[in-house]
Amino acid sequence: MRRLTFVALVTAACGDPSSGEPDAAPLTPTPNPAREVIATNLSFDVTLHTAMAVIELGPSAEPGATLEIGDLGIQSVAVGEAALAFRVADKKLDLALPASDGSTSVAITYMWNAHEGFEGASANGYTLIWPYFCGNLFPCHSDPADGTTFTLALSGIPSGKTAVFPATIAAQAPSYQIAWSIDEYTDLPLGTTTAGTQIVMSHRPNEAARAAAGGANLVAAFDWMEKTIGPYRFGNVAGGVSVRWPAGAFGGMEHHPRWHVAAAALGDEETQVHEAAHGWFGDGIRIRCWEDFVLSEGTVTYLAGRALDVVAPAVGAAVWTSYANEVATVRGTDPVWPQSCGRVDVIADNLFTRAPYLRGAFFYRGLADRLGAGVVDQVLAAFYTAHAGGAATMADMLSTIQTVTGYDATACADTWLKSTTTPAPGPCP
Ligand SMILES: [Zn+2]
Repeated sequence: MRRLTFVALVTAACGDPSSGEPDAAPLTPTPNPAREVIATNLSFDVTLHTAMAVIELGPSAEPGATLEIGDLGIQSVAVGEAALAFRVADKKLDLALPASDGSTSVAITYMWNAHEGFEGASANGYTLIWPYFCGNLFPCHSDPADGTTFTLALSGIPSGKTAVFPATIAAQAPSYQIAWSIDEYTDLPLGTTTAGTQIVMSHRPNEAARAAAGGANLVAAFDWMEKTIGPYRFGNVAGGVSVRWPAGAFGGMEHHPRWHVAAAALGDEETQVHEAAHGWFGDGIRIRCWEDFVLSEGTVTYLAGRALDVVAPAVGAAVWTSYANEVATVRGTDPVWPQSCGRVDVIADNLFTRAPYLRGAFFYRGLADRLGAGVVDQVLAAFYTAHAGGAATMADMLSTIQTVTGYDATACADTWLKSTTTPAPGPCP
């Protein structure tokens, strides 16, 4: 990773003349990471590497605000027409904001760098900032529980190329949900769900057949999730985008409403439905702590298999066979559901393995084999109704299972999500 060094120009040291208190001491930049980000409005020039972020910050009884800024080169900070004093230290931006009963919009101009290794905006035209690299792209809060709306505008797009991105994410989303990809794109419309969501696949040259294969049952699966789990929260156009990830990268990333899929996985139905399902779990409901990673990945791995079981049974059966083969290879020592909150680094502490995906999926499958898959559908719908737009935990899921079904899933969760031996798939006890 390249890092810029730069000197912050501290401005507006003489206070705000509109305050009516000319003798008041000027505010100084003050750390206050608890002041929340409500809305993130971004515009980037992808050729000049300039950007402006207008960040709406929430009310705060304490002064100051803190945003993560990675290696951004901050140029100016203003509230309305007035420059705002700021301080850059340790990849954070502290602001000289007063305490406020209302929200405050802060405009920040900056330079940004390309990053490879999935830590920002790649020179290959795509962005990826999961899990906590948003600061390399825009001033942010990377805690997975924190939600923000987004607007996004891009300029400087090379001629002959198209940028695929959502102009607006109007519902609260985790910081890592926003993304763009710039390439030679063609849109393949796949159809419209009963609720009116248009499903489209954006592919690169010579990928039309693979896009069609990957999307063969995507409209039906999306329709099933809308009808079974609840309304989709991220607009009326959704679908996969083929991205130029490095060779060897497989899978996708839940950049709703236009999720990214590695070119190698474009034709893989399970990958497409998995990323689609994150619109409900992981994005539509955020995880409270990285320790709740299984609530995102385990639930959507199950849902991909379940949705395909319903809408394309032969495809679903093949998906479950492949899950069963793969879960047998998962190491029992890889953590799935650590019993803490905010203490685990999802990458450094080895939580980002296949274990939460597959052991999570077979936890729900065990429930379905014990209680009925339709009953598990009702649990997931109740959970979505209760938590959509907010953050939740895997413990909340166990509570919902008990409330909806009367079944105590603790022993099954101990076996699938906590034990250091990987059990054989089968009904929960
Ligand atoms: Zn996933």
